[in-house]
Amino acid sequence: MADGQDPRKLVEVSGLKMHFPIYAGILRKQVGTVKAVDDVTFDIYEGETLGLVGESGCGKSTAGRAILRLYDPTSGSIVIDGKEIAHLEGEALRNLRPTMQMIFQDPQASLNPRMTVGSIIAEPLLEHHAMKPKDRRARVLELMDAVGLNREFASRYPHEFSGGQRQRIGIARALALNPKFIVCDEPIAALDVSIQAQVVNLLEDLQEQFGLTYLFISHDLSMVRHLATRVAVMYLGKIVELAPRDALYADPKHPYTQALLSAVPNPDPDSVPQNRIILNGDVPSPTNPPKGCNFCTRCPKVMDICREKDPAWLDLGQGRYAACHLLEDA
Ligand code: SF4
Repeated sequence: MADGQDPRKLVEVSGLKMHFPIYAGILRKQVGTVKAVDDVTFDIYEGETLGLVGESGCGKSTAGRAILRLYDPTSGSIVIDGKEIAHLEGEALRNLRPTMQMIFQDPQASLNPRMTVGSIIAEPLLEHHAMKPKDRRARVLELMDAVGLNREFASRYPHEFSGGQRQRIGIARALALNPKFIVCDEPIAALDVSIQAQVVNLLEDLQEQFGLTYLFISHDLSMVRHLATRVAVMYLGKIVELAPRDALYADPKHPYTQALLSAVPNPDPDSVPQNRIILNGDVPSPTNPPKGCNFCTRCPKVMDICREKDPAWLDLGQGRYAACHLLEDA
């Protein structure tokens, strides 16, 4: 974003719910609902990386997929680049696909093993652009250059590449249509530690080069600290805290964020070592979240009101938000 200008919101998510019905019995009667994403609201500014963190099963990947309309949201609003897309269908949705793309966790599973790398990267171009074969080929080679893949390997198959190279193929494919917004769903979690930093550096370089906006989903708080502009923390289908990166890591407000961060080593050698906050019990099932605050069954600071009333989403000022009764009237 240019100096002196207010950042533009590229993605605006409001009241997003993604509930999945559970059916049982011969008559396939609905017996329950998985509230994977339950009333989530946040914005992503153009050119920034919003980190979305939380334990496995908290709903962060489902939220990412719902925002890209890989699912039909149960309710809520999703505005991307000024267009409401939450309930678009068919051709109207297809026409918006180039704007928003996804990089998946497991490059092995997301690449067709029977297609060459060149045809994998060319596939979105074939679907969305009428291009001459010569131009398409040139674009594929350009994309391979951009992600650091040797263009002479365009006729090879995914199994001939390492995990890190396969993720580069996935990234090249995601970039093919010049997207503005990319959801990176645990893009390094399946890679060797030695390769992770290379892929993260590549994502950062590409962001700068192409002005990309990222939603970076991860359970790895150290990695998110390195990459994100702002961070949203998710627990049992809800965002419990959202703040600029440095403010969140220096002074987490929500008891769940405090517990998560207490387990992350602080890279500052002068920092005072923190006591690790151990959370008791398991995350409750999203089919049956507790009454009141979703975190009340595990929160070290739980109060009576927490078991009765869902805390409101509070604007704490300076771009910080959290949902906790302790922060009301603070
Ligand atoms: Fe803990 Fe209560 Fe705050 Fe929930 S509302 S995080 S249970 S103190």
